[in-house]
Amino acid sequence: MINQRRPDGSLRHLITLDGLPRAELEDLLARAQHFVCEPGEQPRANQSLAGITIGNLFTEPSTRTRVSFELAGRRLGAEVVNLEVQLSSRAKGETMLDTIYTLQALHFDMFIIRDPQAGVVAHVAENVAPHVSVLSAGEAHVSHPTQGLLDALTIRQRKGDRFERLTIAVVGDIRHSRVARSAYEVFRGLGVGDLRLVAPAAMMPDAGEFAGTHRFATPEEGLRDVDVVMMLRIQKERMEQAAIPDGDDYFARFGLTPARLAFAKPDAIVMHPQPMNRGVEIDSAVADGPQSVIRDQVRNGVAMRMAVLETIARPRPLRS
Ligand code: ASP
Repeated sequence: MINQRRPDGSLRHLITLDGLPRAELEDLLARAQHFVCEPGEQPRANQSLAGITIGNLFTEPSTRTRVSFELAGRRLGAEVVNLEVQLSSRAKGETMLDTIYTLQALHFDMFIIRDPQAGVVAHVAENVAPHVSVLSAGEAHVSHPTQGLLDALTIRQRKGDRFERLTIAVVGDIRHSRVARSAYEVFRGLGVGDLRLVAPAAMMPDAGEFAGTHRFATPEEGLRDVDVVMMLRIQKERMEQAAIPDGDDYFARFGLTPARLAFAKPDAIVMHPQPMNRGVEIDSAVADGPQSVIRDQVRNGVAMRMAVLETIARPRPLRS
């Protein structure tokens, strides 16, 4: 696994949340909370990244992640450049590295990379100049660290920071989901009491993965008395055509309807990383209902990414 730290121990890259100590996760969440603003308020901003140039390199589609990383950088005073990277023109990360070396010569300091191939983000991180940082904006089915952090921030706002008291159910296509893997890493790091995986057999991860979680084959069993329901999109782009379930059939068995949500605690919150398939994994009555925090997740994305960028670019000792 790649070393994400500088020799002094501070965070230089963010490729995975695996192994981040609880104090560091809590510090990131607290910093992010400071950047959260209510709708209609003037967004928080400072100049802590003045003089820093950030390149956004996305070789997979993205709406929220790309826009929020861009806003996060700009609100901290950085220069942010969005680059069109043609996936077809590169083989095994080699052309990506050529692009990176060119941008390094143009004095870029940070690269934010989304890539459908596992290992490319770490490969870039291993080859950049010592002053340059690399952040994952989503890597294959493997990880999506800032999504995991913003999900934890959203839960903390509604449920407080005593994560050991919480029961969280992750529901749907866990097997192909980077969101679920990063959620698992951050929830484990924060000490979540009961983490449940709820999925049909074909969407359950292999037995060796997600150690310490409880697995359920139906939402009726898995959602019982949970505090948080985290729904996932079916990752069709990572499935064989024949394995993609029929939408109506899936909704009938796993879709989050008001009736199914009633198995959870009355004050349970509902999350979804988006894009959402209404009528497939979630009913609109739930997605737009009073228990949904899906829009909070989007809002928190900018704040969380500001906290991550600042932590990496301007390290400071953890508060004790
Ligand atoms: N937007 C999230 C991701 O990039 C979730 C999804 O696409 O289903 O992984």
